[in-house]
Amino acid sequence: NNYQPKEDRYTKMKYRRCGKSGIQLPMISLGLWHNFGDVDDLDNSRAILRTAFDNGITHFDLANNYGPPYGSAEKNFGKIFAEDFKSYRDELIISSKAGYDMWPGPYGNFGSRKYLIASLDQSLKRMGLDYVDVFYHHRPDPETPLEETMGALDQIVRSGKALYVGVSNYPADRTAKAAKILKELGTPFLIHQPKYSMMDRWVEEDNLLDTLENAGLGSIVFSPLQQGILTDKYLKGIPKGSRADKEGTYLQKDRITPEIVNTVQQLNEIAKDRNQSLAQMAVAWLLKDNRVSSVLVGVSKIKQLEDNIAALDHLEFKAEELEKIEKILNG
Ligand code: NDP
Repeated sequence: NNYQPKEDRYTKMKYRRCGKSGIQLPMISLGLWHNFGDVDDLDNSRAILRTAFDNGITHFDLANNYGPPYGSAEKNFGKIFAEDFKSYRDELIISSKAGYDMWPGPYGNFGSRKYLIASLDQSLKRMGLDYVDVFYHHRPDPETPLEETMGALDQIVRSGKALYVGVSNYPADRTAKAAKILKELGTPFLIHQPKYSMMDRWVEEDNLLDTLENAGLGSIVFSPLQQGILTDKYLKGIPKGSRADKEGTYLQKDRITPEIVNTVQQLNEIAKDRNQSLAQMAVAWLLKDNRVSSVLVGVSKIKQLEDNIAALDHLEFKAEELEKIEKILNG
């Protein structure tokens, strides 16, 4: 093991300020939800992380239950981190989360203080880290008082286990309430992580980005390629080994309907006219709003990551391109 990161790694990436904070995030970040579990090939996972860092991707996003099995993405990341990235810790923003199912019984899920604090302790052990840069509450919990969950995030920062906190999947109104509580506590609330893509527009319907802007928060958007649907990969059927082909993923084969393929086909034509891949166009489309601090992609291959990074070469859209895209999406 003799990984030497590329010296020119900071010349390639572009960075955006995350809300009103001191942190700049790479416009493209890497998520470890899939492709880093014990079911995956560790050498490929390592190659993806190295390629990311070599290209100036300074942010790796994890969660307690990424794998499968749960915890294995953090464990494998920890192994690769210790071997390849340890001396670059201060060049990295590493995040984790708790909020979904993690361990049996009433204390391994949702939003209690008990769960969040124990879960982060476990995550830090698996990753071999003293602290994460960002710790998220992964989803809203309708039963636990927001004050309790935010109080846990506050304590986590005060105990030195996270530098900043975030929320994920919170609707705008709950985000504003969380921001108010955290402001009163003096907790560094950095970021929201919502699902957002051309094909999933709840962020717009909920005016989430306005709320974030008002609260001085940044955003990092997940599943920007709709788990791979917004690429050219499903245009000629379901390739072997793709996410839709694999068992036990959140992308079922039956999501790839003829209607979807038809829509994607038309979007692909616009991407071609722009001399970029559909994946690149989908990434660029999200970055047209400056309030999107970073686009959080997943990749199963180095080639996909390189493809996505090259989106930054062509971010501008003509008004007529945007109109055409809307027309296609509205069928
Ligand atoms: P994407 O929408 O980027 O989908 C990733 C998949 O798309 C890849 O695994 C690959 O599929 C395919 N793909 C990526 N790039 C290309 C390309 N250039 N050409 C062809 N296919 C491509 O995001 P994810 O759904 O993976 O989510 C990204 C990250 O967001 C996660 O890793 C996680 O960190 C975070 N996330 C957070 C959630 C939350 O609740 N906060 C929930 C879900 C994700 P294939 O495997 O078929 O090759």
